[in-house]
Amino acid sequence: MLLEKQLETLSQKGYGKALKELSNEEVYAVLLHLVKDLTEEKPLIDGERKVYYFSAEFLIGKLMSNNLINLGIRKDVKDILEKNGFSLSEIEEIENEPSLGNGGLGRLAACFLDSIATLDLPGDGVGLNYHLGLFKQTFKDKKQYEMPNPWIDENTWLNKTGKSYLVEYKDFALRSRLYDIDVLGYKGNKNKLHLFDIDSVDEAIVKDGISFDKENVLKNLTLFLYPDDSDEEGKKLRLYQQYFMVSSGAQMILEDLRKKKIDLRDLAKHVAIQINDTHPSLIIPELIRLMMKEGITIKEAIRIVSKTCAYTNHTILAEALEKWPMHYLEEIVPQLIPIIEALDAVAGERSRNEKTAIIDKDQLVHMASMDIHFGYAINGVAAIHTDILKNTELKDFYDLYPSKFNNKTNGITFRRWLLSCNEELTDFIDSLIGEGYKEDASKLDELLKFINDDKVLNELLSIKDKKKADFVKYIKDKEDIDLNKDSIFDIQIKRLHEYKRQQMNVLSIIHQYLEIKKGHYPAHPITCIFGAKAAPAYILAKDIIHTILCLQSLINNDPEVNKYLRVVMVENYNVTYAEKIIPAADFSEQISLASKEASGTGNMKLMLNGAITIGTDDGANVEIHQLVGDENIYVFGKDSDTVIAHYENEDYSSAKILEEDEDIRELVDFIVSDEMKEISGKDGIESLERLHHDLWTKDWFMALLDVKDYIKTKQQAIEDYSNRRVWAQKMLINIAKAGYFSSDRTIAQYNEDIWKLK
Ligand SMILES: *Cc1c(COP(=O)(O)O)cnc(C)c1O
Repeated sequence: MLLEKQLETLSQKGYGKALKELSNEEVYAVLLHLVKDLTEEKPLIDGERKVYYFSAEFLIGKLMSNNLINLGIRKDVKDILEKNGFSLSEIEEIENEPSLGNGGLGRLAACFLDSIATLDLPGDGVGLNYHLGLFKQTFKDKKQYEMPNPWIDENTWLNKTGKSYLVEYKDFALRSRLYDIDVLGYKGNKNKLHLFDIDSVDEAIVKDGISFDKENVLKNLTLFLYPDDSDEEGKKLRLYQQYFMVSSGAQMILEDLRKKKIDLRDLAKHVAIQINDTHPSLIIPELIRLMMKEGITIKEAIRIVSKTCAYTNHTILAEALEKWPMHYLEEIVPQLIPIIEALDAVAGERSRNEKTAIIDKDQLVHMASMDIHFGYAINGVAAIHTDILKNTELKDFYDLYPSKFNNKTNGITFRRWLLSCNEELTDFIDSLIGEGYKEDASKLDELLKFINDDKVLNELLSIKDKKKADFVKYIKDKEDIDLNKDSIFDIQIKRLHEYKRQQMNVLSIIHQYLEIKKGHYPAHPITCIFGAKAAPAYILAKDIIHTILCLQSLINNDPEVNKYLRVVMVENYNVTYAEKIIPAADFSEQISLASKEASGTGNMKLMLNGAITIGTDDGANVEIHQLVGDENIYVFGKDSDTVIAHYENEDYSSAKILEEDEDIRELVDFIVSDEMKEISGKDGIESLERLHHDLWTKDWFMALLDVKDYIKTKQQAIEDYSNRRVWAQKMLINIAKAGYFSSDRTIAQYNEDIWKLK
């Protein structure tokens, strides 16, 4: 009753109308107002020590549904709206998805904020408020184009604060402006996401898609996440952004301490800083610099900061470990140079090994090296990833600091990836085992007792069918694409990267297509669904997108084939799309080259929603495999030791494979077949040829090493799918075992081993 009254009052106040008279947009605005008011009343989580999670990205997704769930009012609001002629899910569609992240790393940061608040731990996020986000992907002539993705409008979760800091660069200074988004935990506890911005940012300087003057920092600083860094100006802009984030954040933290009359020398007692990948690494020299300004000696400042900062590594891809040329730092933030040189000297005293130096002989500053020497904890994000860091990639550091290294296998928040996106499955699980699993996800394994219960198994299948039908309708409305809801939904959704091997999936689709053309039909019709953005300057990734879109056109328009096989790449894959696709998934494609995917979290979301993994023993797939057992996952491919040995011995040759194996050659050569070239159009042929050439001459991520095993394994999964009862049992086991991947578990471990907050 109270809620209804509040909604009526707000709608009178805002629009002078009764709730039922409002438009959908007005209802959204009223609901936003209500949630903000209710959130305002919640106390901030407090404690002696607080963690600040610094991250270039926070891929938070739409917030309405989750905030309603975390306030415990989603069902009531839904009923009230229905009574007044509205559908809550339609209202939720109105919200723009905040465009503050790129992929898994940013989504992880978002899940972590949710879990930190849920566990009642004091912890805030710190990042930047990108006005135009990453970019919005559009397809034209079967190619990706990038457009700005403006997401901030008058109805926003952002709250302006009075906080502002001066950030000094070599030749000028910028004033940062802090905006906050409230982060609610499951019991309604509250933390903050702090996003820094500048007032002078100017969206009007963006032309022709996402081009803009990269040197006009006053106007461009907070326009885009990951501005194109294929040229020097782009690289420098990223450095401007990084320093802006860490200097503002550091000043905010120190101001907080001062207000609480805490001596800066006690920083580590009150503050933990988690550095999410290397983008925020300059927080280390910046904090030292700020402490020195307060009269603390450099030696002591280094000691204090070394007890405050911890670093999470997200990748073993060498090109992703950031290195800044000294002369950029000289040009942009010269005040940090003496500190970085001092840090390098200390590192040099601890080890003469060149591989652990901070400043290398080419005058490049290695961000990860600085984090490892001067962070007190270093973690990888899945068991195999941490092992590879210790034994291979960061071995020299591990030898130096064995006790700093630890593993924290990633997790996902079940509030979003089950409760919010799959109400039907949530309600069904509630009816079977109660709601205890919502606060202790390990209780999901109580589902195992239904493993032979036909009613339960059938209901699982019918919920999957319902979610598939929902998705078929969604994609028809959104993209005017027709899908067969009775086919297997085979899903690969993740950033486009060669190591994730969408190109290997492409080869398996070509195989399927050629088989159908020969009259060999699959045991069950299958729909291969992709979602992926390619970084704007990553040419080969865009070639792979083009190839997928060509196949989509070729296959879906061929009546002989489309009864058995369809291919779809959704446009502008993001969190909102993920929330629609994942509940509808049958197969979860996790096919990275073993050793290359640090963890993956898409694999966890899909498993939780009853999809079965087809994957390599890589990242968190390894732990999924251990939990569900051989019968409930399809594992294929060469293991990470074999792959690492190939790199060490430099003995992998795709050309050799292609010369010796005509089956594989047929698949690869089909990319440049007449059919493909015709569909591709004159402007696309170059793209097909480039991918074809790459697979023949390089294939750096060894798609051809595993493709045969992959095709065979997927074939088996398609056959097994037809036994619906056994398949439903696999689904049940996957859901039951997904509890381990709750980010509540991950965060409890971060707190226990690293942050020690309460
Ligand atoms: C979870 C998620 C990712 C990460 O997917 P991986 O398969 O782990 O790479 C990327 N993008 C979005 C939108 C996600 O929700």
